[in-house]
Amino acid sequence: MVMAAPAVEGAAATALRAVLRRVGDAAMRSGRNADDVRVVAVSKTKPVSLVRQVYDAGHRCFGENYVQEIVEKAPQLPQEIEWHFVGHLQSNKVKSLLAAVPNLAMVEGVDNEKVANHLDRGVSAIGRKPLKVLLQVNTSGEVSKSGVDPSACVDLVKHVQLGCPNLEFSGLMTIGMPDYSSTPENFMKLRSCRAEVCRALGIPENQCELSMGMSGDFEQAIEMGSTNVRVGSTIFGPRAYPNKKQ
Ligand SMILES: *Cc1c(COP(=O)(O)O)cnc(C)c1O
Repeated sequence: MVMAAPAVEGAAATALRAVLRRVGDAAMRSGRNADDVRVVAVSKTKPVSLVRQVYDAGHRCFGENYVQEIVEKAPQLPQEIEWHFVGHLQSNKVKSLLAAVPNLAMVEGVDNEKVANHLDRGVSAIGRKPLKVLLQVNTSGEVSKSGVDPSACVDLVKHVQLGCPNLEFSGLMTIGMPDYSSTPENFMKLRSCRAEVCRALGIPENQCELSMGMSGDFEQAIEMGSTNVRVGSTIFGPRAYPNKKQ
């Protein structure tokens, strides 16, 4: 009997491959290619060694949710990584984020003018290239969730486009409800926000990304048009300790 080769690949790298396959299949079902959907591997609470393992498997796009954590981890990892900051960002953390992570590719979570202004000034101050931002929209109406109200979305986009020359408005992001059965409604809501924004600004919909879908619902999100999924625990394993505060 031929023995299987010993597993040389770590669990996270194997899980990444499975996720990429599922993403590709879901993209196909929505009439797109795997390349049309970006996978942000959300590594919050996970050690640098595990990020490295997924990097060595060929992945380049990673996400973090706590400023203190990305500021510690990013300098220990290759500059080739495209970091996404995902979720709510506090204005008073913007400076340290920009300073420690020159390879920050995108902030997915701008949800008010103040943080947009801080990011704009911060980018200008360090002289880096314009920073891509997604506006976070609260599509579930839960008061605990950050994000701009859908009705205020167009105004915030206009603020970024007209008032923040160092930011590049790239689209909208949302976090669905924890109960996955209701996320389709949240995703529909984000799509209608995109339609409204694109109409108001006169831009084509393919120039406005939709970041929606996490471990529990990324395939569904892709089928509903997501261009950017944020997958943490399905790649890195369950998070061992509860979310610490920033
Ligand atoms: C942690 C986190 C994710 C990833 O969550 P999983 O359910 O582990 O995939 C995605 N988006 C944001 C904003 C997060 O904070």
